[in-house]
Amino acid sequence: MTLRLTRPAPGVHRLSSVYTNWYLLEAGGRLTVLDAGLAGDWRHFCSALSRLGHAPDDVDAVLVTHHHPDHAGNAERLRAAGARVLSHPADASYLRGEKQLDNSGIVRYLWRPWYAAYMLRYLAKGITRTPAVARLDELADGEVLDVPGFPRVVHAPGHTAGSCALFLEDRSLLFSGDALVTLDLERGPRGRPGPQVVRGPHTEDADLALASLDVLAATNAETVLPGHGEPWPHGTKSAVNIARAASPGLAGLWRPECGSRYATSASMPAPARIEGRPQDEIRRANGPARLID
Ligand SMILES: [Zn+2]
Ligand SMILES: [Zn+2]
Repeated sequence: MTLRLTRPAPGVHRLSSVYTNWYLLEAGGRLTVLDAGLAGDWRHFCSALSRLGHAPDDVDAVLVTHHHPDHAGNAERLRAAGARVLSHPADASYLRGEKQLDNSGIVRYLWRPWYAAYMLRYLAKGITRTPAVARLDELADGEVLDVPGFPRVVHAPGHTAGSCALFLEDRSLLFSGDALVTLDLERGPRGRPGPQVVRGPHTEDADLALASLDVLAATNAETVLPGHGEPWPHGTKSAVNIARAASPGLAGLWRPECGSRYATSASMPAPARIEGRPQDEIRRANGPARLID
């Protein structure tokens, strides 16, 4: 199982494994890691760093967009190698291992073949063995962080209470975590394409996740780099409009206790047409892929 390395923008590297993305931000020979991938990818991650001429102790900071273990797998290892790890305080108790994620809602989705296979691949990547983070610093909404790349924190709660996006104003890039994704996490690549909020058992408050799209749109970033799915190079505003249009009747419908009554992909409209040829642009935006075995 490989880790795929692409370069969606100068100084930005995207690491992808099991439909999950994390990113490296390079500036002045130092690194910021945006999300921390899956625990089972540590060795592949170190190989990817070495290909880029870096080592784990070149990482100054790990910014965790939210507490889910597919985004925090290597945070503690990077902290032990010398990095600061930062998250929003609302998600910190999970990352420190003081609170446990309630995974009971997942069971209702396992009848979907793609979803069941996706969970099995997560297990194979050590998702249940994500180390707790021994020391965490806090992200504050609106703050420009004094770390390589100087990202601005955009608090976008809903998927989790502490979900944050990270905005690189000088390059018009928005790392959206799971606040806005481009992959249907119930059905995979054959599901509904394009920008969307995460549906299914993983989102804590779907109404709030939809409301938070406004703060993402307000960045007016040209490119969205999500936690799951391909980059979206057509602007945050179009991404938000499409995600909203894809969720009619969602607000007020879903609660964790009635996950199976969630609006389904089949009832959703096709995404709005985008000028140009999005797939070509997405391929261009990513650059050539390198596979790290
Ligand atoms: Zn998540
Ligand atoms: Zn995720």
